[in-house]
Amino acid sequence: MKIEKLTNWISVKERPLVIAGPCSAESEEQVLAIARQLKESGKVDAFRAGIWKPRTRPNTFEGVGLVGLPWMEKVKAETGLPITTEVANASHVELALKHNVDILWIGARTTVSPFAIQEIADALRGVDIPVMVKNPINADLALWMGAIERFSNVGLTKLAAIHRGFSTAEKSKYRNKPIWSLPIELKRLLPELPIICDPSHIAGDREFIGEVCQKAMDAGMDGLMVETHITPDKALSDAAQQVTPMSLNNIIEHLSVRKLETEDKTFEETLQKLRSQIDQVDRELLELLHMRKNIISEIGLAKKENNVTPLQINRMDSLMKDRNDLGAKLGLEKRYIEELFHVIHTESVRLQTKIMNDFSGSDD
Ligand code: PEP
Ligand code: MN
Repeated sequence: MKIEKLTNWISVKERPLVIAGPCSAESEEQVLAIARQLKESGKVDAFRAGIWKPRTRPNTFEGVGLVGLPWMEKVKAETGLPITTEVANASHVELALKHNVDILWIGARTTVSPFAIQEIADALRGVDIPVMVKNPINADLALWMGAIERFSNVGLTKLAAIHRGFSTAEKSKYRNKPIWSLPIELKRLLPELPIICDPSHIAGDREFIGEVCQKAMDAGMDGLMVETHITPDKALSDAAQQVTPMSLNNIIEHLSVRKLETEDKTFEETLQKLRSQIDQVDRELLELLHMRKNIISEIGLAKKENNVTPLQINRMDSLMKDRNDLGAKLGLEKRYIEELFHVIHTESVRLQTKIMNDFSGSDD
């Protein structure tokens, strides 16, 4: 997949790229007032505003629609900031392109639908415009990848992903649970793909925007998209999670942005040395797991000869207790040891069950 560097399509002062602006464009005055304050801060690289809003319930504010696009064009003319909005179908694409929108984004509710994504991709065939793809509302990496692939397949190369958290049944302090391992895995599969974090839709509450931005920086993300409003409490959508341009300034100033890599030779050497130690420890761990597997096979055969079940609850309880106690003495996190031995023990039971049902007694 051909993916261009972020700096090929947007001028970024320094990491993180900052995209800011209201959840929704509400009026020409609102859009311009926010954009002016953001421009003045000197910390923002692009202006966002939702024109068509995918609302959960009907009869709520669903965006101003077409009339808002000239307001966005005014923002661009006056501040020089590139403008971005959400598109969810081919007609949105057509109108956004007609009104010189610089960057498009795909909302979480659209990424879940391959039909909608294909329709948007087809409308963008032959157009050279950056597209940022939000994660689908459910934690499905393949669906996220699939949307990015559909855009790549029609020739788009200026692509980025946005982590905006996932909808879950679990109760949490956040509106949409961030699952950092997913964007990290996406980056591993597509190393060139810029990843942006949307702390606003993750947090759902302005109080937590700063901490989510910091987490995104610690995870090495390239940018932030933060919903910003001059009078957040009066916003027509997502009021609780929007911040003023001044608080956005404050959040960005307090971020600790560590380098993604360094050219410092001594540091590189130390890191190399420690990494080779880790490689060695991991190899030994694997050899120990191999030894463990051989012993488990012998136990399996012995149990088979004596007609005893593979899973013995008492043994499992005492094993877990013993490993937890030893782990605690060694300063290892209880949850970590529990999860680790759960996996190891489940595999042992699987292996023994296989041996019991297999006349040759081998695992292969
Ligand atoms: C938005 O950015 O305002 C929005 C609707 O986001 P999401 O698609 O992440 O819910
Ligand atoms: Mn919003």
